[in-house]
Amino acid sequence: MKDSDLDKKEFDLIVIGTGVAATTAAYKCKSAGWSVAIIDSRPFGGTCALRGCDPKKVLVGAADIVESVTRMKSYGISNENKCDSERDPLIKIKWKELMNFKRTFTEPVPKNREESFHKAGITTFHGIAKFTAPNSIKIIENNNHNEDNNNNNILHNQNKFYNKIEDNHGYEGVGDREKVIEGKFILISTGSTPIPLKIQGKEHLMTSDQFLDLDNLPSKIVFVGGGYISFEFAHIAARAGSRVTILHRSEKPLGNFDSDLVNVLLQKSQDIGIDIKLNAPVNKIEKVTENSEGFLIYFSNNDKEGKNDTIKADLVVHGAGRVPNLSNLNLDVGNIKYDSRKGVSVNEYLQSISNSSVYSAGDVSDTQGLPLTPVASYEAEIVASNLLQGNHLKPNYKGIPSVVFTIPPLSSVGMLEEEAKEKGLIYKVTHQNSSNWYSSKRINEKFSAFKILIEESSQGSGGGESNNTENSKILGAHILGHNSEEVINIFALAIRLGLSKEKIKDMLFSYPTNSYDVNYML
Ligand SMILES: Cc1cc2nc3c(=O)[nH]c(=O)nc-3n(C[C@H](O)[C@H](O)[C@H](O)COP(=O)(O)OP(=O)(O)OC[C@H]3O[C@@H](n4cnc5c(N)ncnc54)[C@H](O)[C@@H]3O)c2cc1C
Repeated sequence: MKDSDLDKKEFDLIVIGTGVAATTAAYKCKSAGWSVAIIDSRPFGGTCALRGCDPKKVLVGAADIVESVTRMKSYGISNENKCDSERDPLIKIKWKELMNFKRTFTEPVPKNREESFHKAGITTFHGIAKFTAPNSIKIIENNNHNEDNNNNNILHNQNKFYNKIEDNHGYEGVGDREKVIEGKFILISTGSTPIPLKIQGKEHLMTSDQFLDLDNLPSKIVFVGGGYISFEFAHIAARAGSRVTILHRSEKPLGNFDSDLVNVLLQKSQDIGIDIKLNAPVNKIEKVTENSEGFLIYFSNNDKEGKNDTIKADLVVHGAGRVPNLSNLNLDVGNIKYDSRKGVSVNEYLQSISNSSVYSAGDVSDTQGLPLTPVASYEAEIVASNLLQGNHLKPNYKGIPSVVFTIPPLSSVGMLEEEAKEKGLIYKVTHQNSSNWYSSKRINEKFSAFKILIEESSQGSGGGESNNTENSKILGAHILGHNSEEVINIFALAIRLGLSKEKIKDMLFSYPTNSYDVNYML
């Protein structure tokens, strides 16, 4: 970075964050000739690449191997290890080595990302960005690059990674520790952060960031909350040999997913040894000091008439959900309206409703889009186009798939049955347990199912040039099963493009594959 770049005070666009949303918009505007500055308080790269999707999927990949081998134990897969029970794995995860492998993906990211910004001519800043006026941002150097964690007092910080990065990528300002820059436009793309919890002893909770960088996996882990992060991590940890419990406050975990399929996933999770307690809100977490180490988790066992109960664990992980990361931004000073649970309030062009110089994309933005990587990237594309050519593009959130990367994965796109009912739509449901289908049987997977909602056309409804059969659009698809994270994309395509059931059935998919099963699901 040339000193002259750092001395520069005015930019066409200031981007806050270096995740998927930030990066997408920054490159697009820079390549159109704009001057662009980008700021992050943590190592460059954002959640997906460093602390989310990518590292997680590396661990899921390893857990998947253990699961596959275990499932096939009585069907021709063997080694010399003695196994005491059917679920005892023939092979084991070596956590430290797996973590080292994971780090080969995450560790190069900050440096590569920053070099790539420099190559593109984007000016980079390290520090916390705060609004000082509607078009001004103050960048304050932060020492641990870890500010955006609402549960700051985490005891288990085993994570040397951030410190290493900090040494290499400290603030490169002009001598002082604060700098103010002006932006003709500003993009807020600060992502999300674990929801602050009101539990006594919440400071003992480990975040997902830290779980994904654990040097050792403890033998007893409790996950607080039954969201997708808890389920994914629980499936990893169970396959790596830990005893795992999920405590979920209400009756239905994984609220955004089809409840019938969630029930099958619960059975699978229990089958691999995960203890799931529903109606079990956590009240207190206490550090055990006498005679042993670990934590005591107090919860109400509402299935047992609200009886108070406790469970002991070596580690307690926050899996109770995430909220937009608005802390530190001083949005009021920037005249930016927001909702602390939903994010920056934007209009249909993703522009702040109160400050026309400001746009927002990704997890931090209050839109109908789910907090997912493809959505963050898509919204940022739209923001960049609207910045460069004036407001003209609006996001279309139809047919965006979402997956719980358990083993097997639970995948979903489009409407839930309740939504279709609420909307008064006429639809047909195909809902089946598919564990006796060839695709599940050949891998000895006993837990698989699907539910597809298809719009039923009635004479004269649907309009347009289509005949009746052409009106049988896919409304929603929900699949629990091997490779469902890939198969769901076929339904996503159908929903987004408005393809009818007949159009899909006209496809000839390769065989034998899970995609081929789509024909039988319709
Ligand atoms: C454990 C986990 C697993 C996930 N798995 C998946 C998955 O499998 N598939 C999927 O699609 N999505 C997944 N997600 C969600 C996905 O990671 C996010 O939707 C996506 O990364 C959001 O991108 P973003 O650009 O909006 O924000 P982020 O990538 O979070 O980037 C925001 C950046 O802003 C920085 N920042 C925040 N405040 C400030 C400030 N005041 N000043 C300067 N910088 C600031 C942060 O340090 C951060 O680097 C997962 C998330 C988690 C936590």
